[in-house]
Amino acid sequence: MKTSIIRSLSIIIISALFCKSPTYAQSGDQILDGIGETGLIARYIFDGTTKDWSRNNLHATLQNNSETYAADEKFKNVLSLSNGSYLSLPEATLNGIESLSITTWIYLNSTENNPYLFDFGSREDSHFFATPKAKQTDGFEAALTKNGTTVSETTIASLESKKWVHLAVVIDFPSQSFNTYLDGELAATKKASDLDLSTIFNADSNKLLIGNSLSAKGTSLDALLHDFRIYRIPLSKTQVARIYQNSSKTGETVVNERAEPEDNLPVFEDTIPQLYNRYLTAVSDVIVETVVGQLPRLPRFVEGSYKLPVGAPQVRVLWPAPEDNSSVLKPGTYTITGRVSGTDFKPTATVIVKDTDAHDTPNRTLEPFQLNEVSLDANALGKDSKFIENRDKFINTLAETNPDSFLYMFRNAFGQEQPDGAEPLGVWDTQETKLRGHATGHYLTAIAQAYSSTTYDKKLHQKFENTMNYMVNTLYDLSQLSGKAKSTGADFVSDPSAVPMGPGKSSYDSDLSETGIRTDYWNWGSGYISAYPPDQFIMLENGAKYGGQEDRVWAPYYTLHKILAGLIDVYEVSGNEKALEVAEGMAEWVHTRLSKLPTETLITMWNTYIAGEFGGINESLAHLYRITGKPEYLKTAQLFDNIKVFYGDAEHAHGLAKNVDTYRGLHANQHIPQIVGALELYRNSESPEYYHIADNFWYKTKNDYMYSIGGVAGARNPANAECFVAQPATLYENGLSAGGQNETCGTYNMLKLTRGLFFYKQQPELMDYYERALYNQILASVAEDSPANTYHIPLRPGSKKQFSNADMSGFTCCNGTALESSTKLQNSIYFKSVDNKALFVNLFVPSTLNWTEKDIIIKQETAFPHKDHSTFTIEGKGKFSLNIRIPGWAKNGVELKINGKIQNTSIEPDTYLNVERKWKNGDTVELKMPFSFHLDPIMDQENIASLFYGPVLLAAQESEPRTDFRKITLDASDLGKTISGNPEKLEFKIDGVVYKPFYETYDRHSVYLDVTLN
Ligand SMILES: [Zn+2]
Repeated sequence: MKTSIIRSLSIIIISALFCKSPTYAQSGDQILDGIGETGLIARYIFDGTTKDWSRNNLHATLQNNSETYAADEKFKNVLSLSNGSYLSLPEATLNGIESLSITTWIYLNSTENNPYLFDFGSREDSHFFATPKAKQTDGFEAALTKNGTTVSETTIASLESKKWVHLAVVIDFPSQSFNTYLDGELAATKKASDLDLSTIFNADSNKLLIGNSLSAKGTSLDALLHDFRIYRIPLSKTQVARIYQNSSKTGETVVNERAEPEDNLPVFEDTIPQLYNRYLTAVSDVIVETVVGQLPRLPRFVEGSYKLPVGAPQVRVLWPAPEDNSSVLKPGTYTITGRVSGTDFKPTATVIVKDTDAHDTPNRTLEPFQLNEVSLDANALGKDSKFIENRDKFINTLAETNPDSFLYMFRNAFGQEQPDGAEPLGVWDTQETKLRGHATGHYLTAIAQAYSSTTYDKKLHQKFENTMNYMVNTLYDLSQLSGKAKSTGADFVSDPSAVPMGPGKSSYDSDLSETGIRTDYWNWGSGYISAYPPDQFIMLENGAKYGGQEDRVWAPYYTLHKILAGLIDVYEVSGNEKALEVAEGMAEWVHTRLSKLPTETLITMWNTYIAGEFGGINESLAHLYRITGKPEYLKTAQLFDNIKVFYGDAEHAHGLAKNVDTYRGLHANQHIPQIVGALELYRNSESPEYYHIADNFWYKTKNDYMYSIGGVAGARNPANAECFVAQPATLYENGLSAGGQNETCGTYNMLKLTRGLFFYKQQPELMDYYERALYNQILASVAEDSPANTYHIPLRPGSKKQFSNADMSGFTCCNGTALESSTKLQNSIYFKSVDNKALFVNLFVPSTLNWTEKDIIIKQETAFPHKDHSTFTIEGKGKFSLNIRIPGWAKNGVELKINGKIQNTSIEPDTYLNVERKWKNGDTVELKMPFSFHLDPIMDQENIASLFYGPVLLAAQESEPRTDFRKITLDASDLGKTISGNPEKLEFKIDGVVYKPFYETYDRHSVYLDVTLN
């Protein structure tokens, strides 16, 4: 009796301490109805235009009539369809979707039979449609038909006419259900077995109609429509109800509301110890030192004692995560109590707070090699490595692109003629997209890297050089027009802070349409360059939020960061002075404007969701300072300090600089590049706070927010697939968003930060992370036979990767960073010390290093990860210390041979092996690191884990969608005991199911499994 009381008490305490998951808001419209915006494909409010309100610019076109709108009591101004008028949507609207949800308000005027609310498909007999007055039933009917046969349908007995009703039709692919909602309530539901939409949609021949049918059989709609939305996620009951409630309110178009996580993942008893925790008998306490003001860094893993098995890993401890540093404001000692998921263990950390200055921060002791100093080779089995495969997909397609497409919107902004054959890009670079020009920045970086990397092919190398020069010359000529008189004696404004409104306009606006865009570049201030006029920058200063309307902006400084980074990259690989001049001109423009703003305004700007997203512009500006030595660029870089996240508040009370997690719940990729910028600021300013910010952020993000593939975004709470979870170390409770996880550009930036930190401090865990994310996300983000690549990489059971942009004609953020990732795959295999006395080998990739300063060539021959050994051969001679990474996963005994002789040194995993000697021509170093199976569990639900073989994540190959995690049972003392297969092919079987490397998985997969040990 007594025991049980204590037990329940302790559970209550634990709940109070840990189970609260408040959300952290950024201002601005982060969430529409508690649904992350990546779930939204298109939204047509129909209040006087058929434009898509979402960022995807999938504008509808009215057919058979001019647009007619009607005044309405409930919704003010609504679309009126009658007399055969209907709408068509762009063909690409429904590309690559698995689930689909449609919601709309409708006011039926006529009671005539068989009008079509919508009809979507590539053929008349294979389509998804809805009719408010079906012929047979007289009620509302939504159906999916394939080859003339109805696969599934739902009906509602009758639908009232002459009244506004709200409809939602949801195809939920993972649960194979078809649901219809009326006025926010579930009205009909059906289970189905063939809801695969890929067989009815075809990117090239889709017809997507609202208000009409694909065939002549149906009648066109006679109705009023308001707020028609298309989502790529299966909306849940709560989400539909919320959309209905919120959109019922007149005039409300955006609702900033955060939902509790949907309970659509399996729920496990939180008092049942899982995985190795089942065998735990004791958990160590720890003692940690810190200094006044700095929260201690608590080890996320501590030693444990186990009943069984040999070789169980360290124990994951979940510590409370304070929101400020009030616990360490005075010297002394205090205790923190943690917990271990599923158990009653409560390890403690004794924290000694010392009254001394913060510890020293390190110097940058390593440098990377230039891209042209490292070449990728065929592997030891005579085959191209995955690195070469992906590089070639990108480089060969990149060589075929037309640079005029990437210059199109720049010429358009400056009112210039387009050269023959110039076609605009799609997706986020179309005429009216407020982010246009972002792809151009990535493109500049990619061609600079491709130029530097293609020393193996003279023709390609020359081609990229020509493209670089052409791009820079054009951008230079445009930038020279800004803020100068168009003709002698004409008016102009050269002062960037005095840019007037556009001619004939009464406000600054973001109208980029052919007819609405301003092109009066002589008024834009000297040095201005972008693919749109300066208004978005000015509007952001004046408080504009993120959105599609003309009084809203997207992310002007984000686009600008890509452009500046691209220009700087071109300058660095080729010495192109014009590229530097364009970058400097714009940096001065930014300095002039931002240096006049009060700090409060800057804090507000950089904390506005998306609108204030600036990529890593702080990094580019600090880099520009490093190149030119002009201090105003460093000052400008610091104007981008995200004070709230870095320092807690304007008084610098705490923040990341003092190890406080200030970024929980925030947009992941809005913030990761800011941290990369902080590290570059440390390099140039030597202010130690910047180092602490970067170092603390990395440790927290890797340990508290990372999925097994290395990605870090994907929250259910807050409900936004692009955000960090609302509370650290709650990935199962608050993560695994149905809208996707692991936004790929976020991982690109995490890799950049990781290697940047390694230049300062050679911690093996940094390059362990690098290897994990490189193999299991970056290499895994590219399609099988084209450079198409991923946005999110979903890790719910039975998910599938979606790839886009095979022909490089339309870019999202992740398509942009993919261009960069795959043109620099060799950039972190080797690093050198700044004094050229040491070499670091970080990755096992067949490659040749030309260490020019030492006149030494090092050849790495390996078939890693198909084989577990690598041979390094040295050509040339000289003294240096060779440091080879011994990965954390290499726990099966590492063998080292020098010139064929086995060395009797004990080599520990998670270290760098150091061999210092005078190397002779032909010397060899051989390393054998046997792979073994290991599990990587989710910290707050340990039975949900990923299976690795060495560095390679193995994904279960699934044939069907699923809503539960695949269950497997493994031997606790020897995970591989019940796993059969071919290690050389990296193909394994458990219970008859095939497991392959995630980077070679293109169909349905399970990355997380429900693992039982016995
Ligand atoms: Zn992205």
